[in-house]
Amino acid sequence: MKLIFLGPPGAGKGTLAARAVDILGVPHVSTGAIFRSAIADKSPLGLKVKAIIDAGKLVDDETTIALVKERFTQADVQKGYILDGFPRTVYQAEVLETFSAVEKVINFDIPDPDILERLGGRRVCRKCGHNFHIIFGKPSKEGICDHCGGEVYVRDDDSPQAIQKRLEVYRAQTLPLIGFYRQKGKILDVDARPAIDDVVDNFKRCLGI
Ligand code: AMP
Repeated sequence: MKLIFLGPPGAGKGTLAARAVDILGVPHVSTGAIFRSAIADKSPLGLKVKAIIDAGKLVDDETTIALVKERFTQADVQKGYILDGFPRTVYQAEVLETFSAVEKVINFDIPDPDILERLGGRRVCRKCGHNFHIIFGKPSKEGICDHCGGEVYVRDDDSPQAIQKRLEVYRAQTLPLIGFYRQKGKILDVDARPAIDDVVDNFKRCLGI
């Protein structure tokens, strides 16, 4: 199944994706995670995008599209994928249509106060990218990832200023994608407010599985 996870920062896209890969047997492709890994490696791509990402702005379309196209040459995505964080602009969505046929777009429905609560307490594993939360899902040992033993940290773009900027950018650039995909009959709305087990149930119900 070829799916896009669409929603504001902090909606729980990455958290649901971590569960959905096992349910659907397709890989999770997160552009944000690929950028963070490039930043950690201090690769040319990482050095180019670090300041932009830390400020909560979008990386330019050309760089981002090239990254996704490159990822889509790999065998594992041919049978399906969960695209998380891409597309984020209508232009990216139009280009995506030229190289892959998305089946459904999961629209994460969540009000602003819930977003702020989630982003404010979010912690991420530096090594495997697993998401934790200081209230809703702490690691068993503080600061250490339960899955790979990596360091659990606060993302640089989870600072209050960057959060504000990311929400602004989401509203201006990404929100129009809901209309874009709704017109094509591809949107499935998922109530993303409850705890993760219930969001997983909502997700399965809306896919009819
Ligand atoms: P995320 O992990 O999806 O919240 O992404 C973290 C950051 O990576 C975003 O705030 C952007 O700076 C950058 N990024 C991720 N995906 C995209 C995209 N599709 N287009 C532009 N920038 C992106």
